[in-house]
Amino acid sequence: MYNQSDLKRSIAKVSVGTIEKNYLCYRDKLPGGTKVVPVIKADGYGHGAVVIAKRLSSLGADFFAVSNIEEAEELRSAGIEGEILILGFTPAECAERLYKGDITQALVDEDYARALADTGIKVKCHFALDTGMRRIGLNADFPEACERVIREYAGKLNLTGLFTHLCVADTDTEECVAFTKGQIAKFRAVADRVSDLKLPFVHCANSAAGLFHGEGHIARLGIILYGLKPDYLNTLPEEIKPALTWESYIAMVKTIGPGDTVGYGRTFKADREIRVATVPTGYADGYRRELSNRFYVLVNGKRANIIGRVCMDQFMIDVTGIDVKPGDTVTLIGTNGSETITADDMAEAIGTIGYEIVCGISKRVPRIYG
Ligand SMILES: *Cc1c(COP(=O)(O)O)cnc(C)c1O
Repeated sequence: MYNQSDLKRSIAKVSVGTIEKNYLCYRDKLPGGTKVVPVIKADGYGHGAVVIAKRLSSLGADFFAVSNIEEAEELRSAGIEGEILILGFTPAECAERLYKGDITQALVDEDYARALADTGIKVKCHFALDTGMRRIGLNADFPEACERVIREYAGKLNLTGLFTHLCVADTDTEECVAFTKGQIAKFRAVADRVSDLKLPFVHCANSAAGLFHGEGHIARLGIILYGLKPDYLNTLPEEIKPALTWESYIAMVKTIGPGDTVGYGRTFKADREIRVATVPTGYADGYRRELSNRFYVLVNGKRANIIGRVCMDQFMIDVTGIDVKPGDTVTLIGTNGSETITADDMAEAIGTIGYEIVCGISKRVPRIYG
């Protein structure tokens, strides 16, 4: 029937070649000379940070962004060179580790800059500016105050950059476009005041801003690197493709009769005789429970609906009329025959974003690189 040992219960296949193509395509769409900074936080949005950093380094990428010190150190341990920027908070007690790893730290506010400077270690830093997201950074509504703080700590720390984060760059309503333009203007106003410092890295674009607002110079490329959309409503260039395929297989197939129910809570009731298959992937793998009775998978080129609740390690699908047998591949995300499911499709079905889907594929699912 099938070779037991060849079966991978639940596996994520990552096409590093696709990530490479997405990177090059994105870079080509931006004004010439734009530096593209791959954002590979959360283990490269679940795709594998080290593998991606190695490949993109070989294409000339020499600046990566991550979310925390463990992620930065993982890259250094793997031999990744160039700039590594931590986009979020790191306790000032880690100053020595940051310095030793030649890691660049985001400065989230003045108190934090002081704490880091007080360690006496000249950590490499970029000041974050808050232009409207209200997450981290000096409040750019007060450019004079920003200038004062930036000048003070430019000397006390090894300040090499400034950045801000845009919160609606993926949305093209008039209001959002105006807000984004306002954020960029606030950012520039502060950057201009300290232009004499000649900071080498002044950056405000995420994936969406680079592509949709032509925000050149330096763009932090996150979600589009992986072939997914910042917002479900976005249209990406055709050459950009999802890099991750998620597969499981059919464990068993059976017939159930009218009135039979499926799974915990008996949330699905058959109204006729149907064929049901069980798939050995569940919410412990990151296959979201909200997909219960609401989404579908692909088997032998056909869509099969999820019936009943997704369990921790398994779920059931309706395969009536589809020729399936144990061992057949079940595509959770990816292409099967002429059908494709993207992480964005899955996200839309349950009211979230593709980011959360791919980051949520758990450690239990091995990543296989091709
Ligand atoms: C995550 C993140 C990015 C990347 O955003 P995408 O929408 O994935 O391109 C860029 N900048 C900052 C500060 C981030 O936190």
